[in-house]
Amino acid sequence: MTVQIPQVTLNNGVRMPILGFGVYQVAPEQTEQAVTDALAAGYRLIDTAAGYENEEAVGRAITKSGIPRDELFITTKLWIQDYGQDSTKRAFDRSLDRLGLDYLDLYLIHQPFGDYYGAWRAMEDLNRAGRTRAIGVSNFYPDRLVDFITHNEIVPAVNQIETHVFFQRTDDQKLMGEYNIQQESWGPLAQGGQGFFDHPVLVDIARAHDKSVAQIALRWLVQREIVVIPKSVRPERMAENLDVFDFQLTDDEMARIAGLDTGRSPIFDHHDPASVKWLGGVRFNT
Ligand code: NAD
Repeated sequence: MTVQIPQVTLNNGVRMPILGFGVYQVAPEQTEQAVTDALAAGYRLIDTAAGYENEEAVGRAITKSGIPRDELFITTKLWIQDYGQDSTKRAFDRSLDRLGLDYLDLYLIHQPFGDYYGAWRAMEDLNRAGRTRAIGVSNFYPDRLVDFITHNEIVPAVNQIETHVFFQRTDDQKLMGEYNIQQESWGPLAQGGQGFFDHPVLVDIARAHDKSVAQIALRWLVQREIVVIPKSVRPERMAENLDVFDFQLTDDEMARIAGLDTGRSPIFDHHDPASVKWLGGVRFNT
């Protein structure tokens, strides 16, 4: 049975599945099989990045699947080293080449560091030329986002940010709503950290619906109208993570989960100078 995945409409009219498949930290030699399995399970949105160094394997799986291109929604991301107007266009061409595609559905600025204004001007050109159907950003906190919108022409269609039960980003969501920017969650399962899969509140709600903790956490995000891209290399978990459209969390359950917010990231601090410096020196796919 193929799961029907609902879609959201981005601020430029492009439609995007609300649930997709992420391939962060999937080794290149494992990625072709993982994406092949995900496509077979029914996923149509695939989220990769130049920085994941597995775009070629994603591309091979797409080609071999034989799925019509217009049924897929492919996202990749530009890494910091390639920001700036000219180098962004070259990096985009290299990503498309590795993916074996002639256009992208969504191209994201991976991190708000370095010359991301220059990168955006190039991405605006790529978007206007139809080479990527939508452009957006990732890891932008509200202050960066507002400055970015104020000094550019095209408002990002998407901001992909860490969002899960322990870091819920409700203020971010409210602000993005004002600018009609779609929130997309990375780490929707909190990368399995902080005792996520055994959390008593999530376990209790999962039992009530005869679902798993992963399904409750994904359903909670989807019900907040946030796009999710869980990662697993195991076909049974891929299917499980997709199976969240046949039940609904009650207002009371939504409120209980809202109580789990810590207001901070357990994974990465984008405001820590040492982390910013470290990221700025990381190079990929050179
Ligand atoms: P995630 O929250 O999706 O967690 C993945 C972990 O959960 C894996 O260890 C997996 O084995 C486990 N898991 C998955 N489904 C499960 C299930 N049903 N039951 C039990 N365990 C399960 O973490 P993630 O991979 O970091 O985030 C998802 C995607 O978001 C990434 O693959 C990537 O595409 C994207 N991402 C983007 C950024 C960014 O900076 N833009 C950063 C991190 C991740």
